[in-house]
Amino acid sequence: MIDYSLLEAWFFTGSQHLYGPQVLEEVRANSEEVVAGLNGSGALPTRVVFKGVLTTPEEISAALREADGAPNCIGVIAWMHTFSPGKMWIGGLRGLRRPLCHLHTQMERGIPWSTIDMDFMNLNQSAHGGREFGYICTRLGIERKVVVGHWREPAVQERVAVWLRAAAAWHDSQGMRIGRIGDNMRQVAVTEGDKVEAELRFGYAVNGYGLGDLVAHVEATEEAAVHALCEEYANSYTMMAGLLPGGARHESLHEAARIELGLRSFLTDGGLHAFTDTFENLHGLRQLPGIAAQRLMADGYGFGAEGDWKHAALVRSMKVMAHGLPGGTSFMEDYTYHLETGAQAVLGAHMLEICPTIAAGTPSCEVHPLGIGGREDPVRLVFDAAAGPAVNVTVVDLGDRFRMVVSEVEAVEPLPLPKLPVARALWEPRPDLETAAAAWIHAGGAHHTGFSLALTAEHLEDFAAMAGVECVFIDGETELRRFKRELHE
Ligand code: MN
Repeated sequence: MIDYSLLEAWFFTGSQHLYGPQVLEEVRANSEEVVAGLNGSGALPTRVVFKGVLTTPEEISAALREADGAPNCIGVIAWMHTFSPGKMWIGGLRGLRRPLCHLHTQMERGIPWSTIDMDFMNLNQSAHGGREFGYICTRLGIERKVVVGHWREPAVQERVAVWLRAAAAWHDSQGMRIGRIGDNMRQVAVTEGDKVEAELRFGYAVNGYGLGDLVAHVEATEEAAVHALCEEYANSYTMMAGLLPGGARHESLHEAARIELGLRSFLTDGGLHAFTDTFENLHGLRQLPGIAAQRLMADGYGFGAEGDWKHAALVRSMKVMAHGLPGGTSFMEDYTYHLETGAQAVLGAHMLEICPTIAAGTPSCEVHPLGIGGREDPVRLVFDAAAGPAVNVTVVDLGDRFRMVVSEVEAVEPLPLPKLPVARALWEPRPDLETAAAAWIHAGGAHHTGFSLALTAEHLEDFAAMAGVECVFIDGETELRRFKRELHE
C-alpha cells in the first residue's frame, strides 16, 4: 500500500538571457547530464525529471504552478548553474506549495587551473548564483533543503535521496485518512490534540468511527478466509503450543484472524491509511487487536494505540519515508528503564502492538492474558527488535503549535526475557539516558513514538521542514541547558 513507482521530483535550472543562446544551450545540456547522473546513480528512491532552464519571471511562475498542479510531482529541485536574478523568482516562489530542494552544485568537480578563463567562469557560477537564489528564498521565508557538493558525490546524492523520501511522505500525508476507532483512552492528555489544526498543518484527516462499524466487518468475515489466514500465521511464525487447529487455544487464533480480516476490510472500505483503537472501548470485539495491528503495520498502515492519532499518522509517514530501506519501523512506547550504572537503557514495548518489521528473528505467535480491558486473551507476535542505530520520534500538540522531537538511539540486543509476553526493543539513547530522557520530558515528548531502524534524524528534519513544524533533536551533541534554552526560543 506504499508505492513510489509513479512519484517524481521536477528539476529546474535557473539562468537568464544575459549570456546568449549558446551558453543557455550548454546550461541545458549540463542540466540533462546532471539529472541523468542522479537518476543513474541508483541512489534515489524516485525519478527526477528535468523540466527546463528557466530564464524569465513568466517562465518561472508558469513552471512552478505546473509543478504544484501535477499529481505525481512530490517536490521541486532547483539548481542555479549560472546567475538567475532573484527578483525573477518572487512570483513563482511565493505561491509554491511543493517542497523545495536547492541543489547547490556545479558541473565540474574541480577548477581546471591551467585552462580556466572568463568563459568558463561565466558558465560555472553556482557559487554566487546559488547565493542570490538563497537570498530570495530566505527573504520570502521559503522552507527548503539546501544540499551542497558535487552532484556525483554519493553523500550529496544521499542527502537528495533523504529529501525525496521525506517529500514522498509529505505527498502521502496530504491525502492521508486516519480512522479513530472508539476515541481516546480516558483522561490521557498527550494522545489528544487539535485535529483541525493537524489537517491544516499536515494535510491528513482524522475522523472518528464507532466500534459497531468495525464489528460489522469482523462479523462479515468468511470461514474459508479465516482458515486460510490461520494457515498463513502457521507458515509465517513459530506457533505457541495449542494455537494450531485442534489445539486447546485454537479458538483464540481463529478469533484473532477474524479481527484481522475485519479490520482490513474496514480500513479498505473507508479508504484509511492509519487507525487507532483503545482497550477501553472494544464494544463487540472479543480481543484487543494484537496480531492484526502488528501485521497491518507491517503492510504499511499507521497505527496508534489508545486513540493516539498523531502517532498513527507519524508511523504511517515514517513507513512511507522508509519504503524499501533495510530495517523496520514501528509504533513504540518507552516502557521500563534499566538504570544500572554504565549500562543504562530503555525497554520499549506496548501491550501488543509492535510492528514485526523490526524483529531480529522469526516472531513467535502467542496468546496470553492482557490484564486490562476486560476482554478475552489476545493473540500477539512476540519478538526482540533487531540491534542498530535507530530514531525515536514524537509529535505533540502544545496548544499553540505542534512540536516534533527526534531522539537518536542505539538499539541493542536484550538479555533473554522468557516471561515477557510482548514484542520489545531495547535501546541506549544518545548522548546518555539521563540527558535524553530529561530533554524529551522538557520538550513535552509523548510516551508513544514512531521507532525506526531504517530512518535517520535527517529524514524527520526534512519532513518537519516541509510541514513547517518545530523540530528539536536529542543526539550525541545534546547538552541539557542549551537544549532547554532552545525550547524557549
Ligand atoms: Mn500506550
